[in-house]
Amino acid sequence: MTATIIDGKAHALALRTRVAAHVATFREATGRAPGLAVVLVGEDPASAVYVRNKGKATLDAGMASFEHRLPVDTEAETLLALVAQLNADPAVDGILVQLPLPAHIDAQAVLLAIDPDKDVDGFHPVNAGRLAIGAEGFVPCTPLGCLILLKDIHPKLSGMEAVVVGRSNIVGKPMAQLLLQQSCTVTIVHSRTRDVAAHLRMADIVVAAVGIPRFIQGDWIKPGASVIDVGINRTDDGLVGDVDFAAASAVAGAITPVPGGVGPMTIACLIRNTYVSACRRERLEAML
Ligand code: NAD
Repeated sequence: MTATIIDGKAHALALRTRVAAHVATFREATGRAPGLAVVLVGEDPASAVYVRNKGKATLDAGMASFEHRLPVDTEAETLLALVAQLNADPAVDGILVQLPLPAHIDAQAVLLAIDPDKDVDGFHPVNAGRLAIGAEGFVPCTPLGCLILLKDIHPKLSGMEAVVVGRSNIVGKPMAQLLLQQSCTVTIVHSRTRDVAAHLRMADIVVAAVGIPRFIQGDWIKPGASVIDVGINRTDDGLVGDVDFAAASAVAGAITPVPGGVGPMTIACLIRNTYVSACRRERLEAML
């Protein structure tokens, strides 16, 4: 058996194109563009690339992009003052502070300072809580992108056995919440799980967010399962995921490649969340 390769690039392009069309309608209705503010502290090269790509995607969608680059030795108070200014700015619908922040800044305190209703990354505890109780809020972009890919293969996820590998606040936990909302039976496995393979062998849906190159073996996958690989690991062979793609794609029913799977969906979902935020703030119905 050879798995269907889930084309994240194509899905992301389709979502971005759809959002851009709705943004045009939004601009006509309100006379302004939805705005995303991205804050980068320091010069971490990977973060700089992410920020550049986010800015470009924002402009491509017809939205306004506000980039704020601060030096690495910026005081926490200065960053918090900028966040307060962006919270109050009516042209800003979404605020994203690129992580990681330099060690002298308490990242949690900065995330807490963002207005939850502009928190398009979905990292604020208020949005984590809203997700947990099923209230309207913002869902972190990576797990949201994973869910969109999964729903395309399985419009009805209800009753399926889903195993999420990893329990981080930005991927594993919100992913598990989303799958639970879809009425999957959800298991989270993590670094202290006794037998990860045994859990995975029962899974119809696998979402891997571990950060260990090719950690998940082909013979851990149930034949026909759908496998979403969130991992982005830089190795001597280039970028690889958390799943042994060659082996797993011989067993799975569908699988995301790395790169070209989940990665492009993350930015597309950021654009989506910013558009949704703008609609909520203007009391318009989001067309998604
Ligand atoms: P993290 O380091 O915060 O969490 C990793 C999780 O893996 C932990 O919860 C840990 O319990 C679990 N884990 C570690 N060893 C394990 C083991 N032996 N067995 C089972 N579980 C184990 O990582 P993260 O931020 O959730 O990111 C995970 C991966 O996803 C990374 O490779 C990261 O680069 C990638 N990522 C990709 C995107 C994207 O846009 N595609 C976004 C975020 C993260």
